[in-house]
Amino acid sequence: MVTDKFKRPMRDLRISVTDRCSFRCGYCMPREVYDDHEYLERSSILSYGEIRRITRLATDLGVRKVRLTGGEPLLRTNVHRLVEMISDLDEVEDLAMTTNALLLAREAERLKEAGLDRVTVSLDALNDQLFRKMIDTDVPVATVLDAIDVASEVGLEPIKINTVVRRGWNEGEIIPLLERFRGTGHTVRFIEFMDVGTLNSWNLDEVVPSAELVEMIAKRWDIEPAESNYRGEVASRYRFTDGGGEVGFISSVSAPFCGDCTRLRLSAEGKIYTCLFGSDGTDLLTPLRSDASDEEIRDLMEQTWTKRDDRYSELRGGTPLASPKVEMSYIGG
Ligand code: SF4
Repeated sequence: MVTDKFKRPMRDLRISVTDRCSFRCGYCMPREVYDDHEYLERSSILSYGEIRRITRLATDLGVRKVRLTGGEPLLRTNVHRLVEMISDLDEVEDLAMTTNALLLAREAERLKEAGLDRVTVSLDALNDQLFRKMIDTDVPVATVLDAIDVASEVGLEPIKINTVVRRGWNEGEIIPLLERFRGTGHTVRFIEFMDVGTLNSWNLDEVVPSAELVEMIAKRWDIEPAESNYRGEVASRYRFTDGGGEVGFISSVSAPFCGDCTRLRLSAEGKIYTCLFGSDGTDLLTPLRSDASDEEIRDLMEQTWTKRDDRYSELRGGTPLASPKVEMSYIGG
């Protein structure tokens, strides 16, 4: 188990399998930027075999939890094959996927059969018009809601619902979302709008601090803080005292959690990043395709992690970064 400069182990690997997405959420892939964006060339994208090899080597260094992300991971052809290849690795204790659910109803069964444990679905509004506005794409919210039901039926559980909250956009959806999912076993997690990348016109005024949401929710239901399940758990959780389940908050702006951050990220292009707000990744693709040995690649990953001292969210607004931050759609959330 390797640790970084703050004694944080490398326990989670988040793998972006594509930089493409079918939605245009303004806080991630604003349409005005991404509609004529140059996406990664096919030849520069890691094959499933290469991703499996990197994952296997990462498990040698302590990784036990793997999450498939994007862009939108279900856009990658036959991604269930990759699920099979990774779920085959004994050390991987938890294999999850974050998806916008547009293709989930179609794929859920074979993802489950392939060995996927659970899904996290992005859903920023229940109101159909507002949902379409948040994703800036003409897709009915019913598509996502139906896909959540299908994923639940085939056993891709526990399902987490990720809702990015933007002031002036969807804070009116907080209570309706909880009314919809309380008691279903699915957990809604409200995410503070983050200054990821350089293209989402982030503005502190549009951030709704989680404490404000806790207050709003506590006026409607009785809730109490719940213990975290493990070191590095991203969301702070509250329990409904009436047995209605839990609600989570991911508060990167108002309550940073860098101290326990155990996440390594892999881009579809084969670069590893030690922080969501990082700028320079470490290239694994070149050594991979130049016959480097397992040891050489593992050493590169270990060196990258052991010299890690990222804590962007704790320093936010402090010392400006040397180079522009990587885009979230490129390394996954
Ligand atoms: S800001 Fe970087 S170091 Fe901090 S929790 Fe997020 S990914 Fe981890």
